[in-house]
Amino acid sequence: MTNTNNIVNSKSILKDNFGRDHAYLRISLIERCNLRCSYCMPAEGVKLSPKSHLMTSDEIYNIAKTFVKHGVKKIRLTGGEPLIRKDIPVILEKLATLNVTLSITSNAVIIDKHIAILKQNNVNKINISLDSLDRKKFKEITLRDQFDKVYSNLLLLVEEDFEVKVNVVLMKGFNDNEIINFINLTKDLPISIRFIEFMPFDGNKWDKNKMVSYKEIMACVNSTYKTNEVIRLTDAKNDTTKNYKIKGYKGSFGVISSVTNPFCDSCNRLRLTANGKIKNCLFSASESDLLTTLREGKSIEPVIKKAVEAKFKVRGGMDTLEKLQEPKLHNQNRSMITIGG
Ligand code: SAM
Ligand code: SF4
Repeated sequence: MTNTNNIVNSKSILKDNFGRDHAYLRISLIERCNLRCSYCMPAEGVKLSPKSHLMTSDEIYNIAKTFVKHGVKKIRLTGGEPLIRKDIPVILEKLATLNVTLSITSNAVIIDKHIAILKQNNVNKINISLDSLDRKKFKEITLRDQFDKVYSNLLLLVEEDFEVKVNVVLMKGFNDNEIINFINLTKDLPISIRFIEFMPFDGNKWDKNKMVSYKEIMACVNSTYKTNEVIRLTDAKNDTTKNYKIKGYKGSFGVISSVTNPFCDSCNRLRLTANGKIKNCLFSASESDLLTTLREGKSIEPVIKKAVEAKFKVRGGMDTLEKLQEPKLHNQNRSMITIGG
């Protein structure tokens, strides 16, 4: 009898009500950043959590260990800007002892100072953000004059044999005329450019008309290259990107179309914010507090289970474009800078 009950109750705490298993955890390490990308950080800034409310390196490790125990195989560190966290070497060292693939998303401004520590801890996959190849426009979007640093660090990462993906958030009238320049970077560089549809979050003044859609990106690609030059690649399982390459080019490119073509059916991601809240979806307004539970000395497993079970089928309940366009709804979510992408 007991055995049968155990079998019935043995559903993984990381499996949701739609049969999706969550093997990928994204951990935001910090709410602050050394850039000010307008689509990510509200102009008026964000209300920062007091330092005592942020996870320490030990707490990050303990929470991550629980997720790994239940099947997480991949952890990506993000922010804000994860590399400005002073104890990043300690965090990397601790997480590297877990049986996971460890990766990081960074704006790359100071990544040259972290090459050794990334290598020592087997962080081979790095996503960097770069929205313009024009120094002036880079400054306009990030409010910081750091283009040269980021671009030279991109080349350094390639030289150092990291697997590099470059995230480009496209916006109409701002950088949509750079789609082909970005793709042409992949001619000689073995990198992957990922065009991301601009998404709505608290304070980022999202407007559907500013967004460049998957369809529009591919129309631009198809009007530039010959049909037989544009090769559709096979996407990896749970990949959020529709991947392509130009025949003969070393690298590839793709589109993350969360707005016009959500990929929720194959979603395997959970997010942990720097102040220890679990978010079951990027678009979800609800959060569950793991850190307080951990600090009370209680098991965080029931909290994780409940949060995973509450996951909506599509985009945290924002299943239609109409809902996405409703500021009252996306203002209930956090600003992207405190989620981490
Ligand atoms: N600071 C790091 C960086 O920029 O790579 C990590 C954190 S950042 C929040 C992670 C990713 O989210 C970046 O690639 C950024 O371009 C993306 N992002 C931020 N706001 C976005 C938005 N409104 N729509 C789409 N992507 C966004
Ligand atoms: Fe900072 Fe990254 Fe957000 Fe830009 S996208 S403000 S670099 S956290």
